[in-house]
Amino acid sequence: MINAPVSISSLLSAARPTISFEFFPPKDVSGFETLRTSFAELQRFNPDFVSVTYGAMGSNQESSLAVVKELSSKVPTIAHLTCIGATETNIQTLLSEYSQAGVAAILALRGDTPKDFVGNPLGDFQTANDLVQFVQGSSFEVGVSAFPEKHPESPTLAHDLAVLKIKQESGASFAMTQLFFDIDAYFELVSAARLAGITIPIVPGLMPIANAKQVLRMADMSGANVPGHLVERLNSAADEDAARNIGMNFSVELAKGLLSGGAPGLHIFTLNHHRATAELIETAGLA
Ligand code: FAD
Repeated sequence: MINAPVSISSLLSAARPTISFEFFPPKDVSGFETLRTSFAELQRFNPDFVSVTYGAMGSNQESSLAVVKELSSKVPTIAHLTCIGATETNIQTLLSEYSQAGVAAILALRGDTPKDFVGNPLGDFQTANDLVQFVQGSSFEVGVSAFPEKHPESPTLAHDLAVLKIKQESGASFAMTQLFFDIDAYFELVSAARLAGITIPIVPGLMPIANAKQVLRMADMSGANVPGHLVERLNSAADEDAARNIGMNFSVELAKGLLSGGAPGLHIFTLNHHRATAELIETAGLA
């Protein structure tokens, strides 16, 4: 168990860039074993913290909680928490569990209604900021989302920034970004945020492109723009190994560019596997 509470925002404000990993709750026992192996392999990089995702409308609540409990005894852990469709009682129950598990922070999110859901989800929370305010009343540090290429429902980036500022005023002390592949989009977001009076650290989320097809699909789902030249090169690669090399080289350059440009760290989306993440860290010289 981690005894001293760790401040994620302090880690992200330190001179040394952080290395951290995102995991998702596995569906079955073998997925849990894969996650355990990956986590154990990645421990050699001494991650500053990890985060664990949480399904919208509590769809994988038990599995997420199980992963959070296991990892938070080994490394500072951020529990993602979505509020759409949840009641204050649901959330309070989970917060008590997270508190007992010793989690470092909550990433307060709205979540999305599943595509097959009909009607409006009932619940006590409308936006992520409602959850920020609710969690703020407890002992947790609170982080929030940020979108280098704007949230798909937002009219403009300026709108997103106004929302982010409201969350900062509600007590959020750090932000983590959606995946992106356009380095300028991240630095433009940070510059615009600073001009708007947003001072909290904004850590970039980085998805290593090891499996090009899978990553292009995820980019499409999240609305992340993949540079045309990269798509062309991936699509014209001779085989999967060649595509992997192209994708990983791009990811290494993105990682290096983010850190040399002043990003506070890298939050790497592991997809519960260690190989691409370890390769990225080693090739980019971050270990
Ligand atoms: P919100 O901040 O509520 O924003 C949603 C939309 O409403 C935005 O367009 C925003 O501009 C608008 N809005 C919000 N407040 C206001 C206001 N006061 N006035 C006007 N407009 C407003 N999803 C999961 O299900 N599980 C996860 O674990 C998960 N992890 C994530 C981690 C990161 C780092 C990121 C970036 C996203 C993650 N998501 C996750 C996805 C996220 O739940 C979706 O992107 C969701 O659509 C928005 O969540 P949010 O917290 O940004 O919501």
